[in-house]
Amino acid sequence: MITLRRSLAFSHLARYRSLSTRASSILNALEIPTSEPIHGVYDGAWGGSGDVHESVCPTTGEVLARVHAATPEELQTAIAKSRDAYEQFRHVPAPRRGEILRQIRESLAKKRDDLGALVSLEMGKIRTEGEGEVQEFIDICDYAVGLSRMMNGRVVSSERPGHTILEIPNPLGVVGVLSAFNFPVAVYGWNLALSLAAGNATIWKPSPSTPLCSVAVTKIIAKVLESNNMPGAIATLVTGGNDVGEAVVESVDVDMVSFTGSERTGRKVARVVQSRFGKILLELGGNNASIVMPDADLDLAVPAVFFGAIGTAGQRCTSTRRLYLHRKVAPEFISRLKALYASVQPGDPLTSGTLLGPLHNRTALDIYADAISKLRHADADILSGGRRYEHAPFDKGNFVEPTIAIPRSADAHDAIWATETFAPVLNVALFDELEEAINWNNAVPQGLSSSLWTRDIRNVGKWIGPAGSDTGIVNVNVGTSGAEIGAAFGGNKSTGWGRESGGDAWKQYVRWSACTVNFSDAAPLAQGVNFSA
Ligand code: NAD
Repeated sequence: MITLRRSLAFSHLARYRSLSTRASSILNALEIPTSEPIHGVYDGAWGGSGDVHESVCPTTGEVLARVHAATPEELQTAIAKSRDAYEQFRHVPAPRRGEILRQIRESLAKKRDDLGALVSLEMGKIRTEGEGEVQEFIDICDYAVGLSRMMNGRVVSSERPGHTILEIPNPLGVVGVLSAFNFPVAVYGWNLALSLAAGNATIWKPSPSTPLCSVAVTKIIAKVLESNNMPGAIATLVTGGNDVGEAVVESVDVDMVSFTGSERTGRKVARVVQSRFGKILLELGGNNASIVMPDADLDLAVPAVFFGAIGTAGQRCTSTRRLYLHRKVAPEFISRLKALYASVQPGDPLTSGTLLGPLHNRTALDIYADAISKLRHADADILSGGRRYEHAPFDKGNFVEPTIAIPRSADAHDAIWATETFAPVLNVALFDELEEAINWNNAVPQGLSSSLWTRDIRNVGKWIGPAGSDTGIVNVNVGTSGAEIGAAFGGNKSTGWGRESGGDAWKQYVRWSACTVNFSDAAPLAQGVNFSA
């Protein structure tokens, strides 16, 4: 993402747009203008006259679009309109809100392949993963349609005669959704679907480097809202840089901030929201391990680790970054994994059959190069990869070799192990006892996903029990990456403790009240307190 000066006028920029057919066919299919700068703000009407952000294709380096962000004034207007929209929308019965979500689901499904291609074009993940991401949005809409008839409170027995206690969920307000570059559609989907079913308005601040995905998604949603005579600011969009994110986070008119991003930014965001006593949901970095026992089925485990480490070029929060192999199985596992790595070729993520797309941007290249340099410096054994692809046509994009390394030390507190490297770098260590591997799994600051490969039920008991894995996602014979929407998704410790998507996640998007109602002719105090004069 490159920010240009605000003074560049719409008409001036329009003269210089010229797009490849590869890009223009995708943008045309999603009604994204290809001949003029694009409005990056929607609050019932499209606008935006702030900084211009360039969307750059990670595969070719082509500038896909220039998008106008919100000025500070436009941002405040958008927040105010979201509030107004919420104040109307909270009166709409939940099942009717569900019907709107059903229509959003249908509209998204019609554009699934086009949107998936846009994710691939702008973010860089391969097409099947791009489409999978849109499918996730569709799935969570289905879930939230059902939820719209099941967001139930509770009736609690009262100790006082003629009294009843109700726990009531009501709409919460405006939910700010700040999202990361690597899931430019699905993360918003998880939040929008639950938040809308709950009767809230959302204000979405996407990653500055994936504005086109957010514009395309918002266009689809805006049409549905408008055709239902609902205020468009129920699903407000404010593209822009970190400054726009900061302003959303600081606003007391944003009741809850759902933040997905790095631990570094999450720490700042959490402090700001906490200092104004706002509600916060954090989905931060992951540093996920797979553990392979001697009885594991390697026909399942090797391809799963391969996908976990290389899928989305190692840029999933749930990517496998640490591999703990039992000493007995290590030689065979490593040899089979190396063979798979050797078979993978980089390519255009839009071309079917490509398994390895580019990193998202130049910053990611630096992160990769830094991690490799630290490994070399620490005298790690680099079994595969370790370099950038610098020959044509890959030199125009951000392509790197997926890397397997065996660091000299397995000390999980060492920065090599304890830091999330958002790139395809897989560090391997050997262990003798499951307990040792579980200790390593748990010793890092992050706690998102983990997986154990075994056929022995006793190992499973240790793994999912009280002294087992401490991550939010604890899998058995399933890789670390690729969760379904039905269960709550999220991680513990420095991953932020947030939960999104399924399970009980919806309960965070409502305002809970405990209401004691007295139907009787007396007004006794609780706990038998006597306060008569
Ligand atoms: P990032 O932290 O750089 O940015 C995330 C968002 O925060 C962007 O929209 C950015 O503009 C905004 N932002 C930056 N500074 C801000 C500030 N001071 N106040 C408010 N907003 C601010 O993250 P990224 O590089 O886009 O994404 C990669 C990270 O996201 C990785 O660490 C990855 O693990 C994590 N991630 C986590 C999950 C999860 O569910 N746990 C999912 C996807 C990505």
